[in-house]
Amino acid sequence: MAFLSDTLARVKPSPTIAVTTKAAELKAEGRDVIGLGAGEPDFDTPQNIKDAAKAAIDAGKTKYTAVDGIPELKKAICAKFRRDNGLDYVPAQVTVGTGGKQVLYNALVATLNAGDEVVIPAPYWVSYPDMVLLAGGEPVIAEASAETSYKLTPKALEAAITPRTKWLIFNSPSNPTGAGYTWDELKALTDVLLRHSHVWVMSDDMYEHLVYDDFRFCTPAQVEPALYDRTLTVNGVSKAYAMTGWRIGYAAGPVELIRAMGKIQSQSTSNPCSVSQWAAVEALNGPQDYIAENNRAFQRRRDLVVEMLNAAEGVVCPVPEGAFYVYPSIAGCIGKTSKGGTLIANDEAFATALLEETGVAVVFGAAFGTSPCFRVSYATSDAALKEACARIQDFCAGLR
Ligand code: GLU
Repeated sequence: MAFLSDTLARVKPSPTIAVTTKAAELKAEGRDVIGLGAGEPDFDTPQNIKDAAKAAIDAGKTKYTAVDGIPELKKAICAKFRRDNGLDYVPAQVTVGTGGKQVLYNALVATLNAGDEVVIPAPYWVSYPDMVLLAGGEPVIAEASAETSYKLTPKALEAAITPRTKWLIFNSPSNPTGAGYTWDELKALTDVLLRHSHVWVMSDDMYEHLVYDDFRFCTPAQVEPALYDRTLTVNGVSKAYAMTGWRIGYAAGPVELIRAMGKIQSQSTSNPCSVSQWAAVEALNGPQDYIAENNRAFQRRRDLVVEMLNAAEGVVCPVPEGAFYVYPSIAGCIGKTSKGGTLIANDEAFATALLEETGVAVVFGAAFGTSPCFRVSYATSDAALKEACARIQDFCAGLR
């Protein structure tokens, strides 16, 4: 449509949201659908957080707030960074937005000029490249392979950097692979960044608390303090506290960048929901014990899904360190035909046929930049996961 902008033509709608919407539509039509598409915890938001939100409503905390966050939340965020990451920030270095998405987007809009490049390791979360495009920049994809558990190598990072590079977007544990970088692996990457003083790092730490076995989370500004002045550390309450719908994300970094991000927010959406901000204060300052409890369930589900998917013909599923995703390869299924008669030419065809023939919704790998694979979100009940994986096994066994 001629009326729409050229920028819009450069981007596509979010595929993770598209799959989730499609699964919901089929369910509404009465189809037996198991949704493994959406990346959101199935747990309810903890009671103390809900109570804090109710109290905020009753106390009339329902008006505009400071554009980029109430002082109480900024203070709680500073305390969180100190407690969990050993990072010192003052409230002026903190911004709060409507989900991690808005925070990442603000940072890109605040910094990118036409032609500026942003290095994005693949597999990547679906929205990074399109956000860069919307902000007028150029995504530069740095491939990470299955051999390195889909983790970016220093060599691949070095090769992706040019004089136009403005940012590296770093994400550990990763959406979609669940891969988590160890301290040494991250240090090898920050060493590369030290040699390129014009490159900043945007670290998306959304899955920080969702780690299993004895994996220890770390973040760039913590691993390499010399990068503190060119790092934006992004996080949020959505995943760790089962608060996806409340839409609170936050970031900390250099004051000038934080101010610029606030300026954009002041002209676009103003403050994130006041009640959600008070709920987030309670999430960060209140008891943290349910995180470990939830993680026990997530780890059990991860192990279940990895085992069942590896038992499916043509599927190879690595064991990830964190998040609530697995990212199996389906190289062994490509070129075959499903029972329903679909040629599995690529991972999109696999995901479409899987949904149509078995009712299991997953997100195809091409959406995340690495094929042929698919992403499973295992943030759903053990029973649903068992049934879904059994259907995937059946579907794969039926490929000819
Ligand atoms: N981050 C989640 C996912 O990857 C939520 C959907 C989205 O915002 O992409 O599924």
